This record gives sequence, structure tokens and C-alpha cells, in this order.
Amino acid sequence: MSVAFKSAVDDGVVEELRAIVGDDDRVLPNLSSRVNRTRVPAPFPVHRWAEYMPDVAILPRTAEEVSEVVKLANRLRIPVVPRAGGTGLSDGAVPLRGGIVVDVKLMNEIHEVDLADRTVTVGPGINMLKLNEELKRHGVFYPDDPASYPCSLVGGRIGTGGWSLLGARFGHTRDNVVSMEVVLPTGEIVEIGDGGGRKLRKSSTAFNLKQLFTGHQGTLGICTEATLELAPRPEVEFAAFFAFEDYMSAWETTGVLTKAGLATLAGVVLFDEWKIRYLRRDDEAYIPQPDSVRAVVAVAMYGSRAEVEPASRVVMKLGRSRGGRYLGDEISSGDWASRHDRYATPLHGRSKEGQAVIMSWHCEDAALNYSALPQVREEWHAIVARYRERYGIFDDWGMFAYTNGAHKPWADYLVEIDVGIWEERLDDENWGGWVNCKREISEVTLRHGGSITACHGATRAGDAELVPDEMGGAWQVVKSIKRALDPNNVMNPGKQSLDEAYEEGLA
Ligand SMILES: Cc1cc2nc3c(=O)[nH]c(=O)nc-3n(C[C@H](O)[C@H](O)[C@H](O)COP(=O)(O)OP(=O)(O)OC[C@H]3O[C@@H](n4cnc5c(N)ncnc54)[C@H](O)[C@@H]3O)c2cc1C
Repeated sequence: MSVAFKSAVDDGVVEELRAIVGDDDRVLPNLSSRVNRTRVPAPFPVHRWAEYMPDVAILPRTAEEVSEVVKLANRLRIPVVPRAGGTGLSDGAVPLRGGIVVDVKLMNEIHEVDLADRTVTVGPGINMLKLNEELKRHGVFYPDDPASYPCSLVGGRIGTGGWSLLGARFGHTRDNVVSMEVVLPTGEIVEIGDGGGRKLRKSSTAFNLKQLFTGHQGTLGICTEATLELAPRPEVEFAAFFAFEDYMSAWETTGVLTKAGLATLAGVVLFDEWKIRYLRRDDEAYIPQPDSVRAVVAVAMYGSRAEVEPASRVVMKLGRSRGGRYLGDEISSGDWASRHDRYATPLHGRSKEGQAVIMSWHCEDAALNYSALPQVREEWHAIVARYRERYGIFDDWGMFAYTNGAHKPWADYLVEIDVGIWEERLDDENWGGWVNCKREISEVTLRHGGSITACHGATRAGDAELVPDEMGGAWQVVKSIKRALDPNNVMNPGKQSLDEAYEEGLA
């Protein structure tokens, strides 16, 4: 084993961890287990792999085991990083300071299905596809549906505060988690919900802690059980794709569709010209379209036949009202279906100015208001063009804007720019260039009143240092909460600029 890959925890710690779980197979100090839990799918500075490795991984089965691990970490001041599916796109589960990775994959049981009060209680290691397979026979489903649907896990969805393709109709992760059990950074086990019992959707008692414990990226504790919403399985699904010759007509149509008041609207997606160009060039699943197609608007509706059928006629009319051309049933239903199953496709682009170069995918996501989209689009593409020119290892794979408001499709958008990165060429200089590029993209977002991230997290260099700017006066509150809950900074340290909470002089 090379010195760089040496573990910083000694045999005594490994023995203590084994005593906690009483099972040698669930404590993994070996190199390959640690290497496997170092990275996520986002482009990674592979030349610095050893710097991000955990010292040991553990696979607990119960909240009590997690609690004992966290208490041990506090006693010895060892970092703890929760990890679920490891599909996060901003390094949330990547250990920045080594330590213990708590991999929740084995906590994957369905504890209770309550059809009367419409909840399902699960461990954080279960996947949504698997869960919904089990729920199907009851005529219900858990409607958290990201593009990583088959591979991300409930714990990671809670950790990131995930965004769902169906959010405009059914809400996002934070809306569909009714309550949860959490191991706090000091090891106590608490129940977090809206107040009252674990199955209440609304209360006004004390503070709304559920939101605080959603999207913290494992910096405030580890979710060990979650009680989730059960929605009726939709009777029908309808998707329609419209092509446009220019972006502005597509953007206007997006606004018209989302403001039409159609309750079954589950999501609208706006593809821009760079995205269409990338799909034409690089995606085998792309159904060929004439060169005049320069933007696409996709609409999806879910619900009962009685609601969706008449609403679909409205969609067909509005989709064409600004020059949109219906792209046909094959692309509409086929491409929409693949959106839930596209987890592997975007990871590999293969061209750089006509050369055969394998590039990996970085998805920079932000939350922005509708009115800001055209201007932000111009500025983001200009930034990527500059860096592409200067470094020769980046490519612009285009932008999507997805409806972002829960149950309210009309105002906010999750906006992503996808950047291909020639990972093999990453060295300190090129990685530094990439971090600067990310920072510039996020600065544009903030200037236009947006948020650095809609769901992936500001947990990567280039974004993390802008968190205090985005939070403004509330940053002091954030730091106070972090320090109060995690006095020793053991929970996923180094993320989201939260180390600032431990600097001298914080009131
Ligand atoms: C192809 C592709 C498509 C994607 N599409 C979407 C999309 O549509 N919408 C979307 O939101 N995301 C999307 N993502 C990103 C990713 O899938 C999500 O961020 C997802 O929520 C991560 O879940 P995970 O189980 O992989 O978590 P991980 O990556 O393991 O962890 C994510 C974060 O949560 C923390 N965490 C993990 N478990 C716990 C726990 N038990 N308690 C507290 N914190 C915990 C981790 O420390 C980390 O900070 C996509 C990713 C890929 C690769």
C-alpha cells in the first residue's frame, strides 16, 4: 500500500467499530472498500484521489449502531460522512478530511405500509424504484422521481433535498418526507417532523425542523428512518414534446404552459439550442430532427383519466400557440420515459471538436426565476466558451430548465448547464480552471437573484465558498445552528463553508 493511501485511524478504532456492529464484515478498513467510497459520478480530480479517501467504512443496520459510531467519532474527533447511493453530483458524500464513512445501504427495509394514513416507513438505504415495486400492489406510489431514480437512495435524497421530475404535481423530496428519525452529530437519536406524531403533514408547534434536516448534505446528522408520503398511482401519464426554431418562442411557451393552471401538470422541461446540438451529436437515443429545430419544450401530466384527457387538449393547443411543432408520439412518450432511466447516458460524451475524446459529465445546477432564464443562459454559455477556448478540456453540452416549484410550476426553474470535462487531462492547473469556471457560473446566478443550487448541493469547490454570500445576514444563523448541533465539527466537515462556524468570535 502506498503511503498516500495509508489510513489515519488505528487498529484500536477499527476494533471499537467492530464491537459496535458485532460483525467484522460490516467494518471495512481495506483499501478497495475505501477507494470505492471516495468518489461520486461528477468529474473528479483523479490525480488527487488519495486526498479524499475515508480511513474506514462501516455498514450499520440500526439507528443504535449509527449512534454509537457517531459518539465514538466525537470522543476521538474523527470526521463522519454519511453515504447512501453515492450518486450525488456535487461531492456531498466525498470525505474531504478522511474519517469514517457511514454507508447506509444495508438499512434498506420497508418497516410499515399504512394505507389508512397514507405513509410508508423505510430505512434510508432503500431505492425508490425498489420501493415502488413493492407499493404497486397497493395502488399507491412514493412520487420522488429524479433522473437517478433507479440508483439513488432515500437517505441521499433527504441529504441533498432532491428535486423530482414530477415535482410540479407531487412535490419534491422535502415535500414527500413526512417525518424522519435522525442521529444528531453528538449521537442522540431524535424524531423530526412537523410536530406531533410521525404521520402529520402540518402543525404549527415550535420550529419547523423537518426543513432544516432536509438538504443539509450530511452536515447536521444521519437519517436512519423516514416516513414518506403515499400518493395514489396515476391512472394515466401524458407527455408532449414541441419543437421551436428559436429559444425565445420556446421560453414564452414554457411560461404559457406553466401559468395555465392545469393541476395535473407534473413538469415542463425547456431544452436550449446547445442541448439539442449535443443530443444530435452524442446521444444514440436521440430521434433525428431537422436542423431548424433549435429548442424543445417537453410537458408531462399525471393523474386520473377524467382530468388528464381534457387537460392534454389544452396542452396541445398552448404548445403550438407560439409556433411550436408537435414532435410526435414516439419522441414524446419514448423520450419522457427515458428521463427516469437516463442515469448512465449523460455520464459519457464522446466528442471534442470532432475528435474522439471521452468526456465525463458535470451538471451545474441552480434555481432561478422564469424572468431570468434568457439572460442567464447567454452569460453561462459565454463563460463556458471562454474556459473551453483557454483550457481545451471542456465542452458545452447545453442547458435544460425544469419546473422547480413544488405543486406550483409557474415561477421557479431548476436550471442546469452540462459541461463535458476531459477528466484524463485534469491536473492542478486544469482543475483550478474548472473551479474558477464553476464559481463564475454561480456568481451570475447570484447576481440574477437565484440560488447556487436547486438540489445537488453547494458542496464542491467553486460553489461552497459562495454559500455565505447567498445566505447574507442569515449566514450567522446558519453558523450558530451548525455549531450548536455539531460542537466538534465531526459531521461531514469542510462542506458548504461551514468550517467558518468554528472560527473565533462567533456569538
Ligand atoms: C444521471 C444522474 C441523474 C440525476 N438526476 C437527478 C435529479 O433528477 N434530481 C436530483 O435531485 N438529483 C439528481 N441526481 C443527483 C443525485 O442522484 C441526487 O443528489 C441524490 O439525491 C443523491 O442520492 P444518493 O443516495 O446517491 O446520495 P449520496 O450521493 O450518497 O449522498 C448525497 C448527500 O446526502 C448525504 N447523505 C447520504 N445519506 C444520508 C443520510 N442517511 N442522512 C443524512 N445525509 C445523508 C451525503 O453525505 C451527501 O452529502 C442525478 C445523478 C445522476 C448520476
